[in-house]
Amino acid sequence: MQSGAHPKMEVMCHVSNCRFYKNDYCHADKIEVNPKHAGRAHTSDDALCSTFIPQNR
Ligand code: SF4
Repeated sequence: MQSGAHPKMEVMCHVSNCRFYKNDYCHADKIEVNPKHAGRAHTSDDALCSTFIPQNR
């Protein structure tokens, strides 16, 4: 990977009511994940996809 380049990866996701969800994959150009509490996550439950938008909004 070149210096400064962003990694590209497939994101498997099962949040079926998200606007970006299709066939168990995320189709957003990029996603942002943030900790539920300030600064740190202790379990996977503390790491949340902030890009989520409900389908019917
Ligand atoms: S934006 Fe987040 S919640 Fe929505 S499909 Fe992508 S990874 Fe899943």
